[in-house]
Amino acid sequence: MRRILIVGAGQSGLQLALGLQAQGYEVTLMSNRTADEIRSGRVMSTQCMFHTALQHERDLGLNFWEDRAPRIEGLGVSVTGPDGGRAVDWLGRLDGYAQSVDQRLKMAGWMETFAQRGGQLVIHGAAVSDLDYFSRTYDLVLVAAGKGELVSMFGRDAARSPYAEPQRALAVAYVHGLGPRPEHPDTDAVRCNLVPGAGELFVMPTYTLSGRADILFWEGVPGGPLDVFKGVRDPSEHLALTLELMERFTPWEYARATKVELTDAHATLAGRYAPTVRNPVGRLPGGGLVLGVADVVVANDPITGQGANSAAKCAASYLDSITAHGDRPFDEAWMRATFDRYWETARHVTKWTNAMLAPPPEHVLNLIGAAGELPPVADRFANGFDDPADFENFFYDPDKAAGYLASAGTA
Ligand SMILES: Cc1cc2nc3c(=O)[nH]c(=O)nc-3n(C[C@H](O)[C@H](O)[C@H](O)COP(=O)(O)OP(=O)(O)OC[C@H]3O[C@@H](n4cnc5c(N)ncnc54)[C@H](O)[C@@H]3O)c2cc1C
Repeated sequence: MRRILIVGAGQSGLQLALGLQAQGYEVTLMSNRTADEIRSGRVMSTQCMFHTALQHERDLGLNFWEDRAPRIEGLGVSVTGPDGGRAVDWLGRLDGYAQSVDQRLKMAGWMETFAQRGGQLVIHGAAVSDLDYFSRTYDLVLVAAGKGELVSMFGRDAARSPYAEPQRALAVAYVHGLGPRPEHPDTDAVRCNLVPGAGELFVMPTYTLSGRADILFWEGVPGGPLDVFKGVRDPSEHLALTLELMERFTPWEYARATKVELTDAHATLAGRYAPTVRNPVGRLPGGGLVLGVADVVVANDPITGQGANSAAKCAASYLDSITAHGDRPFDEAWMRATFDRYWETARHVTKWTNAMLAPPPEHVLNLIGAAGELPPVADRFANGFDDPADFENFFYDPDKAAGYLASAGTA
């Protein structure tokens, strides 16, 4: 059977490894951390995944936490007005529920499953020199190492990467004790609180090591009033800052957060990165080729909560491309075609995410405002998180937006 090496045990690497393993491929998975190290380490993401991505996991029988994780039935938007109150506040209903399972739990569990099923797990932080050797001994080497150092093998695609610098400073805290949202106490939802000019606060339910929890996630425009987490090492200081900003910019969210505490000692994360699309094929010093997967080749800002969704879609698409290729060589043409097939989905995510990082044009403000009056518009927005290709139909172009609103208003 064909031998495949996957470097990186995150959403894409593990999903692909388990998928190939189930089809009889001889898969080696290389991870720079053991399952226990991942489980007892720092939170990595907010990892809210929508229906299509969750279905890819179900298709492989990997939805181990589905019955325990909260079902996220909606996605809401609030906008802070000039008076500090809510200028906009609505909830869109998702056609299929979303879920967030702490990646510490999921990746550790999947990694153990891969090994239990006979997969070869190598704990080693791969360097380019290792890959040079492995590209000669495996039929295919896939680099699914996220935003780590190995991305330097894949050249930046400037035409597809409009931003050279990070567009948001990120600050995440997992908490217990958040009260329900009084406007919809029985509906779990992701809440996007937009603070014009300053950034966003996302609040979402998750399933973590200690059970159900909520995530408070600030995205701050660099240099602005929300970009204050740099150098904050103490988790309790991180939480105090998070709450202070909530009280000042989103008091309606603060009102339900007065009793929160961190879920564990590693429940906070801060950082920033520039959204980047890369050349999918890496050429090694010895001439071998490797194919980049998910964040390695398309890393978007988490403002739209798409990276783990995209990683699941990328893994599913690559799995199909690999199995359909049979015994033929995994050459450069196949690698580029495999990425192009994924890019057909990913390009919509990148376009929408990059648009959301920029100040919204008037027609987008109109759409967001109208969603408060017209539930079908709110629902369509919410479901765009599952299928961002739909935004082509009503979001970017002022005429299409106006036409859609006219039809939605009279429907
Ligand atoms: C703050 C934040 C919030 C987010 N929220 C969401 C969200 O709500 N929804 C969503 O869909 N996405 C979200 N994302 C994005 C999402 O987490 C990532 O896009 C997704 O995890 C990428 O999956 P991946 O498989 O490409 O890489 P990763 O999940 O990053 O996995 C890469 C793995 O490779 C390992 N590795 C790195 N270098 C090496 C090496 N040299 N050798 C061996 N192993 C190596 C790493 O340790 C890691 O385990 C968020 C991201 C951040 C930072």
